[in-house]
Amino acid sequence: MLKNIILMGPPGAGKGTQAKRLVSQFNLIHISTGDMFREAIKENTSLGQMAASYINRGDLVPDEVTIGIVKERLAKKDCENGFLLDGFPRTIAQAEALKKIGEEIARPIDVVINIDCDKNELVRRISGRRVCKNCGAPYHIDTMKPKVEGVCDICGGPLYQRKDDNKEALEVRLGHYMNQTKPLLDYYKHLGLLRNFDGSIGSDILFDELSKLILGK
Ligand code: ADP
Ligand code: ZN
Repeated sequence: MLKNIILMGPPGAGKGTQAKRLVSQFNLIHISTGDMFREAIKENTSLGQMAASYINRGDLVPDEVTIGIVKERLAKKDCENGFLLDGFPRTIAQAEALKKIGEEIARPIDVVINIDCDKNELVRRISGRRVCKNCGAPYHIDTMKPKVEGVCDICGGPLYQRKDDNKEALEVRLGHYMNQTKPLLDYYKHLGLLRNFDGSIGSDILFDELSKLILGK
């Protein structure tokens, strides 16, 4: 089984949805830098205050900060059975730092899963997205409605719209994706680690395909 996994893709491709299912299916540690920052913002820590100024306008949090929190998290003992990185790395500098960290702690990346999706669909998904304030589960106001409006099916928490899920911030996020994150696909292709998937095929089918890949089928 592949156990140290990177999940990549533009905002709205379905990374978060797949990540949640995969980590529970395969017992992996979910490392989502976006979730870690949102947690810090909710708790109003100094990291949270600093990160919020970047995140709310759609910009990337500086590399030193992001690399620091991932390094700390990956070194914890619970990661030894496998981890899924969701939203990291997003820049070449982050990818190079990750390679070094992986060598230091002997936890190299086994596979990089890229989920792609066309821009119109990304905009549609992000502009209707709602997220659970407690557990982070994603919903959509038209196509992934919760059973009770405004309430999370999984934990009963309240749903809200992320501050960066608006048109302006999304344009900025897509720009960073194109300029800074997309070049990573070539980086991982050269390392022989990249596997591409279509994020518009439907969540269940995609989950089956990713599961097969992870199981080596
Ligand atoms: P999405 O993939 O939907 O854009 P995430 O939850 O992964 O959302 O990230 C939300 C925001 O958190 C990003 O727009 C960015 O500001 C910040 N962030 C998350 N991961 C990173 C990272 N690896 N490097 C820099 N900033 C990050
Ligand atoms: Zn919830």
